[in-house]
Amino acid sequence: MTAVPWGLLPDSAAVGEHGQLLVGGCDVGALAEEYGTPLFIYDEEQLRARCREAVAAFGDGVAYATKAFLCRAMARLAHEEGMQLDVASGGELLIALSAGVPADRLVLHGNNKSDVELIAAREAGVGRLVVDSFDELDRLERLHAADGIVPKVLLRITPGVEAHTHEFVMTGQDDSKFGFGLKVGDAARAVKRTRSSGAVELLGIHAHIGSQVFVAGFYTQAVEALAPFVNELGLPELSIGGGIGVAYVEGEEAPSITEWGDVVRAACVDAGITARVSAEPGRSIAASAGLTVYRVGTVKDVPGIRTFVACDGGFIDNPRPALYGSGYETFLPRAVAADRTETVRLVGKHCESGDVLVPEAKVPPGVVVGDLIATPVTGAYGRTMGSNYNSLGRPAVVFVANGQARLVIRRETDQDLLATDVG
Ligand SMILES: *Cc1c(COP(=O)(O)O)cnc(C)c1O
Repeated sequence: MTAVPWGLLPDSAAVGEHGQLLVGGCDVGALAEEYGTPLFIYDEEQLRARCREAVAAFGDGVAYATKAFLCRAMARLAHEEGMQLDVASGGELLIALSAGVPADRLVLHGNNKSDVELIAAREAGVGRLVVDSFDELDRLERLHAADGIVPKVLLRITPGVEAHTHEFVMTGQDDSKFGFGLKVGDAARAVKRTRSSGAVELLGIHAHIGSQVFVAGFYTQAVEALAPFVNELGLPELSIGGGIGVAYVEGEEAPSITEWGDVVRAACVDAGITARVSAEPGRSIAASAGLTVYRVGTVKDVPGIRTFVACDGGFIDNPRPALYGSGYETFLPRAVAADRTETVRLVGKHCESGDVLVPEAKVPPGVVVGDLIATPVTGAYGRTMGSNYNSLGRPAVVFVANGQARLVIRRETDQDLLATDVG
């Protein structure tokens, strides 16, 4: 039994003089006192460094997939560091625009974009619109007939590559709700149709094979599958999507963004692809920069069975364990380097037994009511995927850097919970 693996903590993690965790030069316990719990804490310099790494690996055109973690501060940060931004709904578009990101730096995704979303994106002048279906092409033609706007588009292609990841986040296989299938000939039909349509300007091809992909070789497979198609079309752009994995628990290893970029670029050279190649990382930008801090409210020991440690959050701030069976590490911010010799079940406060954050959570001895307990690598698909189940407000988010913390999303209040209830 060992301390929490140091590599899973944010880059700026340090041990304070009392054995406590510091991130961005800030004492995590003091942040929890000031901002309350549950609390998402992000290492801002790490977010910036990952964005710069992505730009260095893929060049201009690489986009941050905002669904991993989005607020105006994050949108601004990614833009400042040279990334474009992927948005996949009218709401994500709104947040990015209201952060001041120029529309031409935005890419709109979605397998079922509404008229309202398409109109908003076209009128704003988004840089690229990624067309996902023939029905969407119908819609774009109808809207064009009314307003004459001609967006620049990529076509989303499903290359028929089965990246080994959780089936809920596998998106490149033939049997997918996303995009135009390569093998069935839909991709070729979509190209033909867009080229003869005055409603869109076709610039390239897009593919996204899935998320939390640990083996960069799957991208080589995707490039190989797409190459004949892309080369024959002679279109100027190819996006290979996002999805490179990150380590969440002890023993996991993932390629870096730089290594991923090297593999993709080599595959494109080998395949003779001359189009500009870009990508759309989300998780690998945001996940390990963030951690969640909870406060322990009850400790229930069931003799001979297990100890349940219940915190003040749960599957509304981190649905990944319940959705995908995802694993997380645990540690106590007051003793971050302590050996974790005991195993407990870290649960939330929601009214169902599936509200388990970490089934076999390793902790040092002596966890008591009032302690803070934390899970690292919660910066992606935590708060953005969360809910208001049990009518609990969503947690606050702080960015830390150089000994300073700034609140970027405030905690939801009772007034927020009543705001939409007009009955
Ligand atoms: C979700 C998504 C991404 C980002 O995936 P990550 O696993 O977070 O890197 C990129 N592109 C598209 C189209 C997506 O749906």
